[in-house]
Amino acid sequence: MTVALRTLLDLSVKKMGKGMNPVVKASALEMVERAYNEGITVQISAGYRSLEEQANLYGQGRVYSYNGKNYSNLAKPIVTNAKPGQSYHNFGLAIDFFIVSDDGKKAIWTVNSKWQRVAAIGKELGFIWGGDWISFRDYPHLEMTGGLSYKQLQAGKKPHLTFKLEKMEMPKASKGDSHIISIQKTLNSRYKTNIEGDGFYGPKTRLALIKGLQTELNKQYNKKLIVDGKWGPKTKTATVTLKKGAAGYITWILQAALYMEGYSPGPLDGEFGEKTEMALYKYQKAKKMTADKQAGKETWNELLA
Ligand SMILES: [Zn+2]
Repeated sequence: MTVALRTLLDLSVKKMGKGMNPVVKASALEMVERAYNEGITVQISAGYRSLEEQANLYGQGRVYSYNGKNYSNLAKPIVTNAKPGQSYHNFGLAIDFFIVSDDGKKAIWTVNSKWQRVAAIGKELGFIWGGDWISFRDYPHLEMTGGLSYKQLQAGKKPHLTFKLEKMEMPKASKGDSHIISIQKTLNSRYKTNIEGDGFYGPKTRLALIKGLQTELNKQYNKKLIVDGKWGPKTKTATVTLKKGAAGYITWILQAALYMEGYSPGPLDGEFGEKTEMALYKYQKAKKMTADKQAGKETWNELLA
């Protein structure tokens, strides 16, 4: 099964962290999305790095202290020549990426044609690629400097970056999906979860969906599940089969899960009607399951495991 674009975007957003320049962040996500559309699964592994984090990195392979704190770590090899304040990461202007195996499970660090293509997309979007550097090639690295030096940035100057391409005025990737945002908010209010309403489907949102399902199974069907958001044999066994005509919060969970997988179940109203049935049918077909238009154990398992 190919990893979902939303998963890659969600993980990338997390890895970039807070403190990113919004244009750099949006361009990075646009790059992930464009690569995905070409069949290349890529993820951002790093973005903003605080000065302390930079000190920690610089201390690898060296004897080094910064602001009176010891950052020496001779057990590891040298990974950077940039001291705190000498990396565009410190100003939220740089990212690192790596290729992900199709199933999303492995990081692939080989600089192959896919890697080169991602770098090319990044450059189209206005990034400078570390793989083009002469002295020290940094293949995962992409940055936007806005023409400012570290000194100017350290002095507090802010770069004026603009999206490179007209169509990028507001890339949808940077906002997330509005329906997913509303699903996330509903999950938070209904099941007391605490997920970010960012519009991306990632592991935390999936966990919240499972919590929702476990809660509804306990409430409506007197199951005695531990509501931990973890998918396991007990939860799978406890699931009930939903088909056309079903209604209620548990149907809403099914609709939300289908939506997350890219299928449109119609309005997320908790009513299993024609559109939900059609979405389920298409999903089952795509997954090469028995397309019986009913959400039974195997369907729940496919959606949430
Ligand atoms: Zn980097």
